[in-house]
Amino acid sequence: MTYMRRYIEKFGTPPRCKMPVKTGDDGYPICPLCAQPVREIRDELSMREWQISGMCQRCQDSVFTPKGHSE
Ligand SMILES: [Zn+2]
Repeated sequence: MTYMRRYIEKFGTPPRCKMPVKTGDDGYPICPLCAQPVREIRDELSMREWQISGMCQRCQDSVFTPKGHSE
């Protein structure tokens, strides 16, 4: 699921975010941590987290997943 992509395709802009996130040329917000466009947001929870932190899914995962965790 790509919540962010769906949202932007529908509304043309990213949802409101508490952080002053930059927006890339293609309309996707830029992650403040890794400076990559935020395209993939897995679920509603991650979307809510994005609205607070502006972080992409990968950065959210690495922040909220304890280090050393393996599948
Ligand atoms: Zn990131």
